Amino acid sequence: MSFSISESVKAIKPYEAGKPLSEVEREYGISNAVKLASNENPFGYSPKVAQAVLSKLSAMNRYPEPVPFILCQKLAEKYHVQMENLVIGNGSDDIIALLAHGFLDPGQEAVMPLPSFLMYEISVKTAKGVPIMVPLKDFSTNLDGLVKAVTPKTKLVFVTNPFNPTGAVITKDEFLRFADQLPDSVLIVVDEAYIEFVRDDSVYNALDVPLTDPRIVTLRTFSKAYGLAGFRIGYGVMDKAVAEILNRIRQPFNVNALAQVAAQAALEDTDFLSKTISGTHQGIDFLTQKFTEAGFEVLPTQANFLMMDVKTNSREICEKLLRKGVVVRSLASYGYDTFIRINAGTDQENKICVDALISVAGK
Ligand SMILES: *Cc1c(COP(=O)(O)O)cnc(C)c1O
Repeated sequence: MSFSISESVKAIKPYEAGKPLSEVEREYGISNAVKLASNENPFGYSPKVAQAVLSKLSAMNRYPEPVPFILCQKLAEKYHVQMENLVIGNGSDDIIALLAHGFLDPGQEAVMPLPSFLMYEISVKTAKGVPIMVPLKDFSTNLDGLVKAVTPKTKLVFVTNPFNPTGAVITKDEFLRFADQLPDSVLIVVDEAYIEFVRDDSVYNALDVPLTDPRIVTLRTFSKAYGLAGFRIGYGVMDKAVAEILNRIRQPFNVNALAQVAAQAALEDTDFLSKTISGTHQGIDFLTQKFTEAGFEVLPTQANFLMMDVKTNSREICEKLLRKGVVVRSLASYGYDTFIRINAGTDQENKICVDALISVAGK
């Protein structure tokens, strides 16, 4: 090929998504597979979402609203911010990319934990920036390490709370001490994709407090607790000047009209959200108890998933589980050769997963 590819793009490793159910079922000749590999909502989504989407179908010949007005109004009310503090994205992935493109010049740095959600690294490299990766400490974000990695070239620092894939959290005290040590020139991106599942009151929640620090950009998503992963919609809450930049560079119609009405309906159905959260807690507690009893080492988690040590090659375990129709995530590609990540499913899915894992691991 005679095209020359951008050097920073050449260095990008492709994103390894969890296999979609349909593909697993086709490949292994099975049906009714149990997928607990992508931290999705096993309870589906609010019935009000389906209604809202169906009634929108007749207007799909029209472009979506460039800024979904009612959704933004509801979010602004919920978090006591103004609409100008919001950016709505085609998933929070979209906002991560906008941050990298809006704030990094070539060669400038974004500091992040290692391993991290892969979209941080991919977006930074696509924007011709340089990811600076700081290894975890005891499966948690090494906040002091992130601070030490900041240089005059640093423009962004990413943290994920709770952390994917370990489930570890950052407390309020830890976060404030961390933010205090960072310069004014750095944006602190706090990815709270799993914050709805947190049970521990000491955990930092960026939207529990008034938006006073202009450096803090909070990312939230409808993909997990609200069950809208397939619609693709997430949002960021941030200083108006930062939001203005992201809104300036995003595609004008980045969020499709069905996702807009789906998110609006999902936000209104607080009953469904509560049921998801309590069902998830029940699932996490069940899985933790059964796997601990079976002799696996389960890390403490505040998210809708757990990470555990199966004490043998986790790729092989996952392959054997696939043949039994159970899809979980090997963490070998993250450098944890004997660990897997499993999200809480329905009661029935959890039972199937426990039985399958205990049988393939010979426990
Ligand atoms: C799932 C997830 C997201 C959400 O991504 P969407 O693009 O909103 O679906 C963001 N960050 C982390 C760490 C995640 O695990």
